[in-house]
Amino acid sequence: MEKREQTIEYFEGKDLPSVEYRELCKKAQEVLPDAYSIYSGFSVGAALLLENGEVITGTNQENAASPSGMCAERTALFYAGSRFPQVRVKALAIAAADRNGPVKAYVSPCGACRQVMAESIRRGGDFDVILCGEERSILLKASALLPFPFKM
Ligand SMILES: [Zn+2]
Repeated sequence: MEKREQTIEYFEGKDLPSVEYRELCKKAQEVLPDAYSIYSGFSVGAALLLENGEVITGTNQENAASPSGMCAERTALFYAGSRFPQVRVKALAIAAADRNGPVKAYVSPCGACRQVMAESIRRGGDFDVILCGEERSILLKASALLPFPFKM
């Protein structure tokens, strides 16, 4: 066997590189009050920009039987896949708030959402992911979030 390495490239800072991405983070933050997060108190908002200009938002939807809930990212990605199956994803912004308000640092998507993002890459190609924080944000490619995704 040979040793191999995989590195990821990402950008981190207070300012995002474009107005479009700043607006996308703003949309992810604006939907936070729509999250159904009565159990955890942790609200997540996602805003998905499609290549046709459509912006699809989603929030986490918790359930008393916790596995039955759904993350904000997958809510938005599945809706986009259902409503606009031929349109590729351009960018996904993710924002979060706890019971004290918007989180200072960014939040990162869970493993299941990363696998669903990998499927979106398969459908339409790689896209940007913006982890929006009050004090700093991260910008990276969706493919960087999950090396070696499950494939059939
Ligand atoms: Zn998730």
